[in-house]
Amino acid sequence: MFNLILFGPPGSGKGTQSEKLIVRYGLKHLSTGDLLRSEINRQTALGLAAKSFMDKGQLVPDEVVIGMISSALDENQEVKGFLFDGFPRTSAQALALDNLLELKKNSIGVMLALDVSEEELVNRLVKRGETSGRSDDNNEQVIRARITEYHNKTAAVADYYKKFNKVVMIKGEGSIDEIFEALCKEIDNRI
Ligand code: ADP
Repeated sequence: MFNLILFGPPGSGKGTQSEKLIVRYGLKHLSTGDLLRSEINRQTALGLAAKSFMDKGQLVPDEVVIGMISSALDENQEVKGFLFDGFPRTSAQALALDNLLELKKNSIGVMLALDVSEEELVNRLVKRGETSGRSDDNNEQVIRARITEYHNKTAAVADYYKKFNKVVMIKGEGSIDEIFEALCKEIDNRI
C-alpha cells in the first residue's frame, strides 16, 4: 500500500489535486471535509454536531474525525493506498492515524505540502464562495478563522512528519497542471 497525505492550508488546492492524483495512482480519496459535508447533507447526528463548528471556521473535535477515518479504513481493506486530504489536521489526529495504520501493518509514505501565500488563499476562497455553495466560503471572517485554525493547530502536523523525513514542500501557485506534475514527480520517486 502507498499512503499519501496531501497537506496545506484551506484553499491551497488539496481537493483539486486530489481528484487528479486518485485517477493517476488508483488511490482511495479520504477527505474529512467531504465526509463531514456528506454527514451534514444526510442530516445525521454527527453531521449536525459538526456543522456548528464548520460554520464558525473551527475544527471539528478530534474524536469525531478520527472515528470517521477509522471506519473508512476498515471499509476499504482492498485498496492500493489512501490519499488523505484535510486529515490529519492536529497532532492528536496525526498520532491516531499512525496508530491506525500500524495496526494494519501500514504507514504514511509521504506528506506533500502545498505552499501558497496567505493573500492568494483568501482570494481563492472568496472566489470559490461565489459558486461552491459552501457556507464557510461565503464569509471573509469565517475564511480568516479557518486560516487561523490552520496556523494554531494544523501547521504543527507538518513538524510531526518532518521528524520522520516524510515532508516535501511543493509550490502551490502556478497552473493546476504544473502543480500536478510537481506532485507526481515526488510520488513517482517513492512509489
Ligand atoms: P478547507 O481545507 O478548504 O477548509 P475542508 O473541506 O477540508 O476545507 O474542511 C472544511 C471544514 O471541515 C473545516 O473548516 C473544519 O471545520 C472541518 N474539518 C475538515 N477536516 C477536519 C479535520 N481533519 N479535523 C477537524 N475538522 C475538520
